[in-house]
Amino acid sequence: MRMGVQLLAASGVLFALVTAGAAQQAGPAADDPVKTLVARLDLERYKATIKGLTQFGDRRQGTDRNRAAVDWIDAQLKSYGCATERLRYEYNPPPPQPQAPRAGGPPPPVIASGEIRTGVGGSRYRGITRPTGVNTDPAAQPDPALRALNTPPTVPGPREQVYCTKIGSTRADEMYIIGAHMDGHGWGEAANDNGSGTALVMELARILSSPDVQTERSIRFALWNNEETGLDGARAYVEQRAGLQGRENPLRSGRYPEPRWIAMIQHDMMMWDHGMPRADGTLSPEQRPEADVNIEFQSTAKRADEAMKLAFFFRDANEKYATDYPAAVGSHMTNTDSTPFMDFIPAISLRENERGMHTGAGWNPHWHQPTDVYTTFSDKDFRLGLNAAQTTLGAIAQLAGATLKK
Ligand SMILES: [Zn+2]
Repeated sequence: MRMGVQLLAASGVLFALVTAGAAQQAGPAADDPVKTLVARLDLERYKATIKGLTQFGDRRQGTDRNRAAVDWIDAQLKSYGCATERLRYEYNPPPPQPQAPRAGGPPPPVIASGEIRTGVGGSRYRGITRPTGVNTDPAAQPDPALRALNTPPTVPGPREQVYCTKIGSTRADEMYIIGAHMDGHGWGEAANDNGSGTALVMELARILSSPDVQTERSIRFALWNNEETGLDGARAYVEQRAGLQGRENPLRSGRYPEPRWIAMIQHDMMMWDHGMPRADGTLSPEQRPEADVNIEFQSTAKRADEAMKLAFFFRDANEKYATDYPAAVGSHMTNTDSTPFMDFIPAISLRENERGMHTGAGWNPHWHQPTDVYTTFSDKDFRLGLNAAQTTLGAIAQLAGATLKK
């Protein structure tokens, strides 16, 4: 019963917001506060935040380096003026099966044959694909310091993840959730997967927490843990907090520890768009000229129709506010922390590539490999991630009703 009321209310909110967005199609005005906010994103700052995250190596869940990264993220968010909280949960997987180490060298390509090859999330592989996997071979990491940093193994037990919230000025009881996972693996620095998404969310928290920024609705910035084990941090959040939505606590305080969820926007792997592998399985060292931001919803989700509208709203925000790269919408969102939300609220993901057709087909050779380190990426790659940040900030500032205090 409670859920029925929430669904109705949430549908009304999204409809109203999309209508409001359509009214602004004339383009940003000279005094557009959204334009001012987006202009506060900066390539060097974005790079510096990614670099800061890479000091903790692969940030694998259940290790000291992961806990140190959670503490570091928490301290940064606090320094931006965004009040942090922790979500605690247990992660006790069944003992791992013995597994032969697998190195990250380029496996043989598969040439398109005309047969239909299905990928994850409802996708279909086209063109040349390469096998994918998670590197588990320490010797594949040539940097001895990074190898040593990544050596302590994951241990089952208690876990924490951090989030902080911008409180809405007039509708504090409703919120958007902006997320990225901060854990990684593969014996690199998890720079792209997912320092690039984590830094994006942190930069948005910084800009929207500035004392001169006001938003009508609340926005929560969530840095999920345990994504790489199966979205366990985001699942724990949904399990623990879905039932708390919209409750004022204490009564008549005007405070809502869990504002009602309006939509969830996930960011996972933001920087690499170098196109299809060549026939020999190698990839271009250069970004492809047609590089874009991929916005995906999941067509099988219970809230698919609203998620689709939200995805196109983000595409429009990209048209208005992103400086360099366009955005494309797809219907196969999968394998990231927006999935546990997608039947409850409209949920989308932003990425460098489509998760099924491109990433799943091996088009990013650094994915879960020792080469996912800061120095692998060029300024063009970093700038693609910055354009995704411009897209989400441009969209969410409109949706949450952001204004600047004079
Ligand atoms: Zn990821």
